[in-house]
Amino acid sequence: MTPIAPAVQLRQFIAGSWEEGTGAVLSSANPARPGEVVAEGLQATAEHVDRAVRAASDAAAAWAGTPMHERGAVLLRAAGLLERAEESLGRELAREEGKTLAEARGEVARAAQILRYFGNEGDRAAGEVFASPRRGERILVVRKPLGVVGVVTPFNFPIAIPAWKIAPALVYGNTVVWKPASTVPLLAVRLAEALADAGLPKGVLNLLIGPGKLGTALVEHPRLDGLTFTGSTAVGRRLAAAGASRGLPVQAEMGGKNAAIVLKDADLDLAAEQVVLGAFRSTGQKCTATSRLVVDEQVADEFLGRLRTRLDAWAVGDPTDPGVHMGPLISAGAADSVRRGISAAVEEGAALAYEGKGPGDPEGGFYLPATILELPRNPASGAANTAWREEFFGPVLSVRRASGTANAFELANESDFGLSAAVFTQDVTRVLEAVDSIDVGILHVNSESAGADPHVPFGGARKSGYGPKEQGGAAKEFFSHTTTVYLRGGNPR
Ligand code: NAD
Repeated sequence: MTPIAPAVQLRQFIAGSWEEGTGAVLSSANPARPGEVVAEGLQATAEHVDRAVRAASDAAAAWAGTPMHERGAVLLRAAGLLERAEESLGRELAREEGKTLAEARGEVARAAQILRYFGNEGDRAAGEVFASPRRGERILVVRKPLGVVGVVTPFNFPIAIPAWKIAPALVYGNTVVWKPASTVPLLAVRLAEALADAGLPKGVLNLLIGPGKLGTALVEHPRLDGLTFTGSTAVGRRLAAAGASRGLPVQAEMGGKNAAIVLKDADLDLAAEQVVLGAFRSTGQKCTATSRLVVDEQVADEFLGRLRTRLDAWAVGDPTDPGVHMGPLISAGAADSVRRGISAAVEEGAALAYEGKGPGDPEGGFYLPATILELPRNPASGAANTAWREEFFGPVLSVRRASGTANAFELANESDFGLSAAVFTQDVTRVLEAVDSIDVGILHVNSESAGADPHVPFGGARKSGYGPKEQGGAAKEFFSHTTTVYLRGGNPR
């Protein structure tokens, strides 16, 4: 049996120093064995928020004046540190968040890849040059940082999502005050340590560990210049409204209710494999997880049978066990909320089409089995069902049958959210129709609805996203603003 690692002491990182908080005790527990404390310490308070924003503000001018190449070099060194620690950080991530060790290691590698991408941005184009309609003139469009950016992040990707916000914020010359989700503070400490060890100057990154209200204090701070948020729709809208009322640029990536659409000509085996991964990897706790399935009625029975067969071999248990496919949910509250959602859906007419096995010995962990709900065939009742409309953020797939391709696309669009979707077909004409008809920020063709690369835009359409997209070239749009320079020489000699 692997010995239990002692709890890591949590501290705040302000103006280049690690210090104890003065708020209530925060313990992050292992969701697979809630008695096991992974990290513990005193939380930050509004006073820490104030000092952190001031430290970031004081550091802003020098950091903005540091050559972009040097800013990028810090990120590249931090990427190397994460890569070298992938195994130990992956294990800590799996223990604190509950995703499998393979996914946790993959997330650490992804964070390093993101730091590398934005680190190299230090040597890429930093603006544009246009011709002028006037002789002797050029028009330059140069980029400048926003200043102090607040970063508020969710629990489900404790290191990759912070990396894809913090790395572009820093390389484009901003300083940062970061408030991670209070359920995953250890991985936040690890990312901040890597950036500090890579040579980030004092005050350029500040980390505050504590409750949601610190995020509110952050957005209300008079010296904050922008806010990037990822998390639930309710919190995102509140923070976006608070920021907008003060004229702050806000980027908010919020909830999803992502559909996989299986058309009648799809490769059903490939689609079944991908839908299972999309719906149940990370225990369904990905913003891009597949939570709705629209399947052509002509292949629906066959397809659901293939899903059941695959799920019969889906092992649920301690995520650090290499044989396990799915770990627990993040907390008892999260598991209760998903259970309540399933009960409401069943009361509203959904049928329990599949319920998988739980772990042999749950040890009090916050487990739920893989669950498939088939929604009523009556279009109005299907559309109105809680399991079709609300994000459960757990291992639950809600199914509706479509009468042909046009109806399948209609059902897929029947959501307030528009983060991602996956379409399964072998017909390029249907693929082109899907590109035109399905209103989402990210569309996968013959692959699961989750998955994102750092060099291309990431974010939702409709009510899933607010403000500029993240990652790739899109990140520059949020983390910097332009100054247009009409450039003429003096009098010709
Ligand atoms: P959450 O909204 O509960 O928390 C997100 C962050 O906001 C945390 O740091 C939290 O402490 C903070 N917060 C909570 N209440 C606050 C308040 N009143 N004021 C200010 N800050 C507050 O979300 P979560 O449970 O950590 O994450 C799950 C959610 O995140 C899901 O809805 C998921 O879809 C979404 N998500 C979206 C994306 C995306 O890119 N669209 C990616 C990952 C997760």
